Amino acid sequence: MSNRYLAGEDRPMTKIEELKCVQCGRSYAPGTAMTCPACGLEGILEVRYGPEARFSAADLAGRPRDLWRYRELLPVELAAAGSGDASRTPAELQVGWTPVYDARRLAEHLGIRRLWIKDDGRNPTASFKDRASALAVMAARQAGAHTVACASTGNAASSLAGFAAATGLEAIIFVPERAPEPKVAQLTMFGARVLKVQDNYDRTWDLCQQACGEFGWYNRNAAVNPYLVEGKKTAGLEIAEQLGEDLPDWIAVSVGDGCTIAGVWKGLVEMHRLGLAPRLPRLLGVQAEGARAVADAFARGEDLVVGGDDTMADSIAVGHPRNWRRAVRAVRESGGTFVCVSDAEILDAMRQLARKAAVFGEPAAAASLAGLGRAVRDGILSARDTALTLVTGNGLKDTKSAIAAAGGPTAIAPRIEAVAEALAALVS
Ligand SMILES: *Cc1c(COP(=O)(O)O)cnc(C)c1O
Repeated sequence: MSNRYLAGEDRPMTKIEELKCVQCGRSYAPGTAMTCPACGLEGILEVRYGPEARFSAADLAGRPRDLWRYRELLPVELAAAGSGDASRTPAELQVGWTPVYDARRLAEHLGIRRLWIKDDGRNPTASFKDRASALAVMAARQAGAHTVACASTGNAASSLAGFAAATGLEAIIFVPERAPEPKVAQLTMFGARVLKVQDNYDRTWDLCQQACGEFGWYNRNAAVNPYLVEGKKTAGLEIAEQLGEDLPDWIAVSVGDGCTIAGVWKGLVEMHRLGLAPRLPRLLGVQAEGARAVADAFARGEDLVVGGDDTMADSIAVGHPRNWRRAVRAVRESGGTFVCVSDAEILDAMRQLARKAAVFGEPAAAASLAGLGRAVRDGILSARDTALTLVTGNGLKDTKSAIAAAGGPTAIAPRIEAVAEALAALVS
């Protein structure tokens, strides 16, 4: 399949040492491939930097509190804000450096020593995907593209549409039929051209791949574009920098295609290599019981078998995960494991997250907390352990599921007796 945008073709990216295929291990120079020519779409390339690509704690101090603070380890060339050329960051949008909360009530509820919540629903378009889209629009502009495209269960789409709007690129978005309405509303509001494919995410993804090849659009599909995991890894860089000595024993991440957890791990490892993380946490990969292909591949120690995509958590409803190899490898390297959770456990986690920490997460975002609960019950985590749960998307993105989790209000007549009657009927 042709793609005229090759990773790093536009200019010499001296800080990138090689692009390494995660399947066969072959190495490519930047600008020679988007995915491994020998392995096709299974041959996702990992960006590796040379030893001069580094920063110290002193370098970081005083830098802007967004993901561009890690510029030495990002695969784009940055110029100062306001300089007006393609290396300017979309600085008007605050991406990354999302808050980390010490959630004591929730830790107690889970039965572990300490729990941190990193709320990535606080990004500009309200999901973790903004970390990847920020990189994608930079890379697209620097490659001279005018049109960017992606297939997405919803968040990557709304994110790309927002960043395209902020940078003046044209966005063409493919979403599956079931994408929640609020996410689709974001897309049209940001001015993207939105194609709702009357099929599931896997078919939608295939169609977008084909269309990018056919029409020459810049492809933001996370698994095939090696830049995007570099954006996602900034969550791992931040967790290390924000928590320092408090870096937890476990980090729970929900898994769809597997790019998020692979990115978080890459960030943690890079910080550890630079001497900026005292140790490496274990990763808890969390999938839904109805969409568990990566967890199964991990458990069997074999190649992925395409599975179902049956879960209410639309952002991780992926039957054919595209970055499973990197996800499995990350969890294995970390000494961690995978767990699967039911939709009922996800709904409960949404309520606990909101009612014990005031963080409103969409189903896929609360799935990581549900996974921690499951891991405690299964004896994977003990009462002495500490953990961080990555909340990957805001709950307002899927209000239907929120109402399914929490119920609706009680309608009353505008009379004082009705207030007392209704309250008596409501168990608090
Ligand atoms: C995309 C997404 C995930 C999973 O990320 P993958 O890279 O597909 O594994 C989890 N939660 C939310 C809210 C997402 O949008």
